[in-house]
Amino acid sequence: MTTFQSLGLEEQFLQAIADLGFETPSEVQEKTIPLLLENETDMVSLAQTGTGKTAAFGFPMLQKINVESRTTQGLILSPTRELCLQITSELKLYGKYLKGLNVVAIYGGASITEQANQIKKGAQIIVATPGRMKDMIGRRMIDISKIEYCVLDEADEMLNMGFYEDITEILSHSPEDKNTWLFSATMPKEVAAIAKNFMHKPIEVTVGTKNVGADTVTHEFYMVNAKDRYQALKRLADANPDIFSVVFCRTKRDTQKVAEMLIEDGYNAAALHGDLSQNQRDLVMKSFRNRQIQMLVATDVAARGIDVEDITHVINYQLPDEIETYTHRSGRTGRAGKKGVSMVIISKSELKKIKAIEKIIQKSFIQKEIPSGMEICEKQLFHLANNIKDTEINHDIDPYLPKIHEVLEKFSKEELIKKVFSVEFTRFYNYYKKAKDLNVDGGSRSYDADAAEKFSGDSTRFFINLGRKDGLQWMDLKDLVREITELGKDDVFHVDTMDTFSFFNTDEAHTEKVLEAFHGVQFNNRKVDIEVSKDRGGRRPRGGKGRDKGRGEGRKKGGFDKKGKFKGEDRGKQASDDRPQFKGKNRKKEDRPKTGGTGGKRRRRM
Ligand code: ADP
Ligand code: MG
Repeated sequence: MTTFQSLGLEEQFLQAIADLGFETPSEVQEKTIPLLLENETDMVSLAQTGTGKTAAFGFPMLQKINVESRTTQGLILSPTRELCLQITSELKLYGKYLKGLNVVAIYGGASITEQANQIKKGAQIIVATPGRMKDMIGRRMIDISKIEYCVLDEADEMLNMGFYEDITEILSHSPEDKNTWLFSATMPKEVAAIAKNFMHKPIEVTVGTKNVGADTVTHEFYMVNAKDRYQALKRLADANPDIFSVVFCRTKRDTQKVAEMLIEDGYNAAALHGDLSQNQRDLVMKSFRNRQIQMLVATDVAARGIDVEDITHVINYQLPDEIETYTHRSGRTGRAGKKGVSMVIISKSELKKIKAIEKIIQKSFIQKEIPSGMEICEKQLFHLANNIKDTEINHDIDPYLPKIHEVLEKFSKEELIKKVFSVEFTRFYNYYKKAKDLNVDGGSRSYDADAAEKFSGDSTRFFINLGRKDGLQWMDLKDLVREITELGKDDVFHVDTMDTFSFFNTDEAHTEKVLEAFHGVQFNNRKVDIEVSKDRGGRRPRGGKGRDKGRGEGRKKGGFDKKGKFKGEDRGKQASDDRPQFKGKNRKKEDRPKTGGTGGKRRRRM
């Protein structure tokens, strides 16, 4: 087996490598380090993400520069700010025993004067994003006329991001005879063009098969209706209580939206995209690295090249526009030989994209089913059991034990276990017990025809005499129905508002509850009529509880103000009297699938 010693690295680097805990060189390191150390040459190195490219160029560059000199000798261009910072800190670790080494990161979104000051102190190596670099060269804040080594890291991505011109401009300020080392996961023709135009007889190093994803990553896809995408995401997270993941969306807006929804639903999530300030992005990355964030929702650009250890799952909330990008996404997991899973949530029409990706990664996807509510409950239950098993006992509790014993003395071990589990579990169970099958072509139901579900199945369609003329859009109406009936946010669906009336659905099981709840309710001093819709195939409830029974008692419960907000008597109290399963005050929480796993706070509580 090859060792780092045999690659020709000096003692101080071997020491740093030992400190880092690297035992043997990765393939790309084994192939490139000796070549770069022994030759003054250009190089094109193709290796998938997570194979250790940073060290492959980092060590040779550090060994070759002269730290005694303050002149800038090495330039590394990388596509994003995050990557730029990551490479900088890696290089500092690699060169920790090099006295006088100064590596400076140059990137947009941070103070340019501050960066210029750092450069003035003398940086042997600059790690930069192309945009800011070009800017600073233009302002004569940086001089790269004496560099000897230039690295184009993640070259394919830099070109994808439209940095070709910037790179050309930057390189025009650098000496002809420098060595250029290009690193890329893929080799599209744009990268080939760079190699041709900017490099002189580069040595080519290819690790593994070109474009192929890491072997340690399993690829799975889940087919759902587009409208169920978010629910599917939540279930995937809930079915993996220890998830530590990057969730990819296509646009900044979706990224922000999905992150916000997750946060609202009680997950430890955050968004990472280019509309955030540099400061915000740094904070997010810091929390993610510290694992305060379990689900980092990111755009491709922002997450490019991010190297965070032990990411368990990459979730493709949406597939990327360019299927080549998939390799970069899935490369966030399964790094450094660890196992990882890349999940893709697709709608039926995207199936052909999966086939195309399989060709690129040269691996097959496994089609999997979105877990059912009960499967998730089971997972969570055992996760909880294992957590309890592994929890270290906190002896600060000891003084209180006698009193606690008193409180609990009449319960057997059996009963205590049941109670402990119920504390954490019931809310979760309540959320999922009625959960629908989200799979397309998978479960017992076909979800193909949205309309079919709307007007049949196990749901009841209601007619209500409120509509747009009352100032209600469908979302307002949904809120209103939920407020009156105290149903959960997924319990009221297919809301269609017309001018003077509207329709909505609930599960058939809620039919009576809904009719009951609307007894005597008024809106803008007008009596609200609600009935089970006979139109368009809407199902009549069983047991003869139709419109007649639901009306006419005139039991006034209050009314709404202009905005449709409920005003009047203490509905919360009434509700909890005749609806034991819903605690009025806790509704908001009850909406959420609070899990032991995805809620860090909750876990800490255990
Ligand atoms: P790439 O740039 O190819 O995507 P990185 O350089 O970011 O990959 O390295 C991926 C991860 O592997 C990093 O956490 C790095 O510290 C680690 N790593 C690199 N080389 C080795 C090695 N020889 N042994 C163990 N871990 C390594
Ligand atoms: Mg890299």
